[in-house]
Amino acid sequence: MNKVEKYELVFIRFTWIFITVIAAHIIVQDIGMQTGKNTYSSTVVKLCFFTLITLLNLIKYALVRRNLFFSKKVYIPLRLTEILLILSAIALMGMGEWVYIVLMFLILITSFYMGRKFSLALMGYAFFSNVILELLFHLYIEKDSFINFYKSTEDIIHIFSIYLVFFLFTVFCSMLYKDNYENEQQNKKLFMEIANKYDQVAAAQEEIKSQNDKLRECNSKLEEANKKFMTSLAELFTLQQITQAISSILDIKELLKSVNDIIIGVMGVSSSTIILYDEKKGRLKVHTTNITNRKELIILNDNINCQKLLSTLQNGEPIFENFVDMEEYPFVEGRGINSLLCVPLITKAKKFGLVLIEHKYFSAFDDNNLRLLNIIGQQVGIAMENVELYQRMHEMATIDSLTGIYNRLYFQERLKEEFANAKREKYDLSLAIMDIDHFKRFNDTFGHLFGDKVLQHIANLMKKSLRSGDMIARYGGEEFVILLPRTGIKEAYDKVERLRNIIAKTSIKDELVVASVTVSFGVSSYPEFSNSESELLKMADNALYEAKESGRNCVRIPC
Ligand code: GH3
Ligand code: MG
Ligand code: MG
Repeated sequence: MNKVEKYELVFIRFTWIFITVIAAHIIVQDIGMQTGKNTYSSTVVKLCFFTLITLLNLIKYALVRRNLFFSKKVYIPLRLTEILLILSAIALMGMGEWVYIVLMFLILITSFYMGRKFSLALMGYAFFSNVILELLFHLYIEKDSFINFYKSTEDIIHIFSIYLVFFLFTVFCSMLYKDNYENEQQNKKLFMEIANKYDQVAAAQEEIKSQNDKLRECNSKLEEANKKFMTSLAELFTLQQITQAISSILDIKELLKSVNDIIIGVMGVSSSTIILYDEKKGRLKVHTTNITNRKELIILNDNINCQKLLSTLQNGEPIFENFVDMEEYPFVEGRGINSLLCVPLITKAKKFGLVLIEHKYFSAFDDNNLRLLNIIGQQVGIAMENVELYQRMHEMATIDSLTGIYNRLYFQERLKEEFANAKREKYDLSLAIMDIDHFKRFNDTFGHLFGDKVLQHIANLMKKSLRSGDMIARYGGEEFVILLPRTGIKEAYDKVERLRNIIAKTSIKDELVVASVTVSFGVSSYPEFSNSESELLKMADNALYEAKESGRNCVRIPC
């Protein structure tokens, strides 16, 4: 509560005393002693006045308490009304001049609140109101004529002198309160400035808060974008690695191992397994896995051919399980696997198998993992198809179409490798060239088609009689070569001699013809007879020539 408010409340209390006095006045003067001029109507006027001033004081009290009194729109009209009522008490009710003390208090607190100018103006207003009320009293209530105006003029001079005292009192009070008033104004101004500054600070704080919120929102968006970007980057990196592996590795085994390693490295899974489908047996089989624990490997291998995985392969639908049920997936039993993803390795043409990734945690995978694994699956499927295609083409380029054994081109590649190996590892390498005797004549006699059949038959006999490390190829029209690693000249001689015998004793038939052929062999050996692969070939060829010269159907070695 500020000072002015406090003074105003004191003044209100003071007014209550004044009102009580008025009430006493009415009781004593008008009700108690109903004589002379105290008519019934004047009592009613006094009661109305009493009611008015009581109401005004109540309203003022309420306004001061609610802090609504000190706005100028309320303060000035109320003050003016108040003065009018106080003056009415003097002029109309004959309350005596002591009531001017109330007016004095009023002017005192007004000068304190509104300053000297306003209080002097208020005093002027009080003075003129007083004069007018006095005149009205004389003319209308006292019913005096203008003849008695002299008397009222005297009253006015009396009032004037009272107001002169008021004037001096007001000037004195104003001087006393000037400093206080100015301080108050200064304080008010400062207070307003501080309030203004406070509002500005609050607005700035609000602005900072909203900027902060925007920044935070921006930051979270940025973080989200960054996360997505990192995921995309990781995916891109994975796919780039897979593409690199696919384009550089043509061996399927090596390719799948490499893909498996990339998946483990990038997806951070507990285990990754590539399962291949054997079309002939209709079974799934583990091809590559990073699992090394023997017990786990046995469980995986024994149970991988399960219904759930087979249907994934058949319908191409991936498996996404974040809470793995052991009954559905028997290959996880006892391995502590709780999440798994499985995508098929299929193309339009073929179902190759599946990629299976597993995690020990529940809910380890999300849609991004599935999407990435699906892309990997598709890429690897295409790569496997390419590898198969490449292998088929390679086969076509290296295999002789009539006999199904290697052709001369492939033989020469292998001879180079084998010779280098033999040289490095210092083992014997023998080479035999075989030529069918009088095959031209044979063709002429039995026909070219039957001749082809003979070539196929001899190729089969040769395949059957050789070890897995040996190699045979069709060297020319009716000439064949045999490469025998880790075989010396003697052993090679025995082998081809045995083969020559078998061929000579074999009858070749078709619906119409039964015939047999003989063959001649020339054999050479490294390091016994030759020091280079061309020399090895040449020596064997020379030996064959020797065999032909010796009457055919025999085996010759260099002399
Ligand atoms: P020799 O070797 O005993 O000295 O007599 P040859 O009659 O076998 O010798 P030559 O090299 O003159 O004849 C080879 C014959 O082999 C000629 C050709 O008709 C036959 N020939 C070559 N390639 C094929 C083939 O793919 N199919 C058939 N049916 N015959 C072939
Ligand atoms: Mg020949
Ligand atoms: Mg021949």
